[in-house]
Amino acid sequence: MNFLILVLSTILSLFPQTKTTQKVEKKPRQAPNIILMIGDGMGHAQLSSALYYGKSEPNYVRFPIVGLSRTSASSHKITDSAAGATAFSCGVKTYNGAIGMAADTTAVETILEYLAQREWKTGLIATSSVTHATPASFYAHVPLRKQEFEIAEQYLQSKVDFLAGGGQRFFFNRLDEQNLYPEFSRKGIQLDTNGLNPYQWEGNKRYAYILAKDGMPPMHKGRGDFLPRATTMALDYFDQTAGDKPFFLMVEGSQIDWGGHANDGDYLVGEMLDFDAAIGAALDYAEKDGNTIVIVTADHECGGFAMVSEEVEVPFRGRQSDYDSLRFSFGSGGHSGAMVPVLAYGPGAEVFSGIYQNNSIHAKMMGLLK
Ligand code: MG
Ligand code: ZN
Repeated sequence: MNFLILVLSTILSLFPQTKTTQKVEKKPRQAPNIILMIGDGMGHAQLSSALYYGKSEPNYVRFPIVGLSRTSASSHKITDSAAGATAFSCGVKTYNGAIGMAADTTAVETILEYLAQREWKTGLIATSSVTHATPASFYAHVPLRKQEFEIAEQYLQSKVDFLAGGGQRFFFNRLDEQNLYPEFSRKGIQLDTNGLNPYQWEGNKRYAYILAKDGMPPMHKGRGDFLPRATTMALDYFDQTAGDKPFFLMVEGSQIDWGGHANDGDYLVGEMLDFDAAIGAALDYAEKDGNTIVIVTADHECGGFAMVSEEVEVPFRGRQSDYDSLRFSFGSGGHSGAMVPVLAYGPGAEVFSGIYQNNSIHAKMMGLLK
């Protein structure tokens, strides 16, 4: 008898255990969601300004991984935002002004296009027009950044699922008398030109919030919480519609750069603090989700911005630096050649430590997909 039991149990053990009733669960995501946040014109001093002018500790101090990005374009030592963003989106160093094109003007597939092809949900948010160089570099391919009418047409053909920013004049009542309004419904895009109104998100629909004639208003002219709120909305949209697929979201603090060009420290700092609020929204989401990577970087520095000490007259000693009072200083009205910060949080974030070329950020993001 004992022998029979032994034989039976031996035979049974040859078969793998099958038919255990298991709940059918969503397949766990392999690749992480990617949130790429670009502070246009955000050098180290711009980033640091949030330490001194915010109401509380900046959100970005929560990042464990820090790197430096070398920003030169193929054509110039100092990059513009088109070549800078194309380095991130396409992985190529190109000439200043190029949108989604290599230095020889051949179109290069962007990371957004690549991922959309693989059924990832995608989103772009900017405080400039949505056709401006940085967001455009993720879905458009034109030799010159100023072709914003053409870029607007390419958006309609693109696979950007969630879009938020300004730029109405490139779609409606255009200088060329074309009106792209009817194209939105034809392409299944829910268009909103009034505000960040939430919808019952539908997976087969695209959403576009185009909320200003050109760029969104600056913070000091009442933009409010557009950037962090659009970020939260996009994440909510992805949560409800992405299913078991990851998503790719690019969020741009576009006007840190414009404060730099204007040599206006208050403008710059207001934009920096707003961008940091959006960073907070992204980090909160990533911490909860557990499989989301957040990368914060810049295309270039702008303005040669610094926070220097105020000089004061000290009796019997002459002029001296007062190290307890900060003053904004600008070295130029354009971009500079300084390296810019890269901050990363989430699974695989370690690859973003070190010093590397801006287009390596593309390669590092693509590496996360494996
Ligand atoms: Mg930009
Ligand atoms: Zn600029």
